[in-house]
Amino acid sequence: MNIIPAPSRLTVLSENKTKIDSIGFGESLLSDEAKRDFLDFCSLRDGEPNIFFKKDENLGEEEYIMKTENGKTYIKSASAAGQLYALQTLKQILFQNGFSLPDVEILDKPTHKIRGFMLDVGRYFYTVDEVKTFIRRMAVHKLNLFHFHLTEDQGWRIQIDAFPLLTEIGSKRTNTNFDRIPREGYYTKADIKEIVDYAHAFCIKVMPEFDIPGHCRAAIACYKELTCFERELPVATHWGVKHDVLCAGKESTYDFVYKVIDEMCEMFPDEYFHIGGDEVPKHRWDLCPHCQAKRKELGLKDSDALQFWFMNNIKDYCKAKGKQSFMWNWDLKNDKDIDSDLSFALCNSDTDIGDRAYIDTSAKAYYIDLPYGYISLRDTADHKTKNKNCLGLEATLWTEYVKDMKKADYMTYPRLGAFCENAWNGGIGYDAFEKKLEYYYSFLDYNNIGYAKPHQANPNKLRKPLSVLWFERRQLAWEGLHNIFDDKKIEKMAKEK
Ligand SMILES: [Zn+2]
Repeated sequence: MNIIPAPSRLTVLSENKTKIDSIGFGESLLSDEAKRDFLDFCSLRDGEPNIFFKKDENLGEEEYIMKTENGKTYIKSASAAGQLYALQTLKQILFQNGFSLPDVEILDKPTHKIRGFMLDVGRYFYTVDEVKTFIRRMAVHKLNLFHFHLTEDQGWRIQIDAFPLLTEIGSKRTNTNFDRIPREGYYTKADIKEIVDYAHAFCIKVMPEFDIPGHCRAAIACYKELTCFERELPVATHWGVKHDVLCAGKESTYDFVYKVIDEMCEMFPDEYFHIGGDEVPKHRWDLCPHCQAKRKELGLKDSDALQFWFMNNIKDYCKAKGKQSFMWNWDLKNDKDIDSDLSFALCNSDTDIGDRAYIDTSAKAYYIDLPYGYISLRDTADHKTKNKNCLGLEATLWTEYVKDMKKADYMTYPRLGAFCENAWNGGIGYDAFEKKLEYYYSFLDYNNIGYAKPHQANPNKLRKPLSVLWFERRQLAWEGLHNIFDDKKIEKMAKEK
C-alpha cells in the first residue's frame, strides 16, 4: 500500500475488503471544514457512523492509531490533529482500493514538530480562496505551519489601521519588469481572520512575516521618512535586492515597526512570528547621519553590527508579546551576533549556527520555486537535516516567477510529496519515493492538482543547464544597473549634507 508520507507502521490484517458507500462520523474533535473536506474527497453520501474516534491521552500530540475492520474505522488520538492526520491516511487507503476498505492497522506519528510551507504573496498576490487551497493541500501532506510572507518590495499585502497608505498605495505596482500590467491586492483584517480560522480548522498554525529592515520598498513608497534619505520612490516593479531599506537610526522607524507588529499580533494569535532580516545592503546606512549616530550611541563597530542589533531589538519586542521569532540567515557567516532566542529559518546551510534552534528551509532542497534544474525532485527527496536543535522543516514558494496557481502547482508538485516525507517521517530517500511516484501522480490527478512530470522534475544532463539558463535570463535585471546610478546619487546627497 502507498501512503505519502509513509506512516511509522502499517500492517495488513487480512485479505478482507469492504466496499464503502457512505461515510458517517462518530463523535470527534474535527472541525466542520475538515469533515467536509473528507466527504468531498470521497464523494460518498452521508450515512450511519462508520468512523469512530477515541481520545487517548497517552499518545503524542499529533500521533494516531487507526484500525479498519469490516468497513469500520477506529481512530485513537490525543488531539484533533491526530484525528485529522488519520483521515488524510484513510483518504489514500480508500483512493487506491477503489473506495473499498481493507483491514489494516496503522501506527503513526511525526518526526518533526514543525512542518512548514511558505507562500510569498508580496511578488504576486493570491486571493483568499487560493490561499485556502494551499492550506487545504498542506493538510493533505500532514504539514502544520503556514508561513505567510506578507510584506515585500513589490507589494504590501495586509491592512494596518495605523498606516492606511500601506494598502492604499503600497499594495499596487504599475508593472512587473516592463510588462505594462499593473498588479495589486491585499488582505483586509476580515480576510486574514478567514484565512487564520481556516488554517486552524486543519490544525495548521500561521506564522506571519513582516520582512524588515530590507524588502521594504512598498512601505517606503507610502512613507518616505522610513528610509535614510527620504526620497520619493515607487513600489518596486522589478525583482532583485533593493538598496533603500528602513533607516535604523530614526526613532520614527521603530515607532512604525512596533505599531505594525502590534496589529499583526492581534491578527495572528499563534506563537510564531517571522521578522525577515535577509538581504540588507548597508550602502545607505553607511552614509546616513541618523544610522551612524545610532551606531555610535550603541557602541557598535559597523553597519552590520547595527543590523544584528536591529534584529535582536525587534525580537525582544515580539518576545514581550509572547512570540518566538524567526529570521532568515542569508546574510550571516556565523550566529554569534544574534541572540540565541532568535531562531533561524535556515536557508543558507553554510552559516555556523552553533546550538541555535532552527527550521531547515535549505535553498538547495526546499526552495521549491527554483527550477528543477537547480533543485531536482531527487535533491529534495535526498536532503538530510542535521537533527540537533532542528525544530522542523519548511518548503518555501517564492513567487517572482510564480504568478498563478498553474505555475505554483508545477513548481510545488511532486516536490512537496518528497518534502512531506522528510518532514513527517525523517525521509525515505529518492529511490524509495520514486517507487511511489506513479501512485502520487494519480492521487494528485484525483485531487485536481497540477505537477511537473518525471522528466521535468528530474531533468537530464541536457535539460538541466537549459532550465538554469532559461531561469537566469530573467535575472539580467535592469535593477542591477539602476542601483549603481542610484548609489551615486545618494553619495552626492550625503556629501552635500
Ligand atoms: Zn538611516
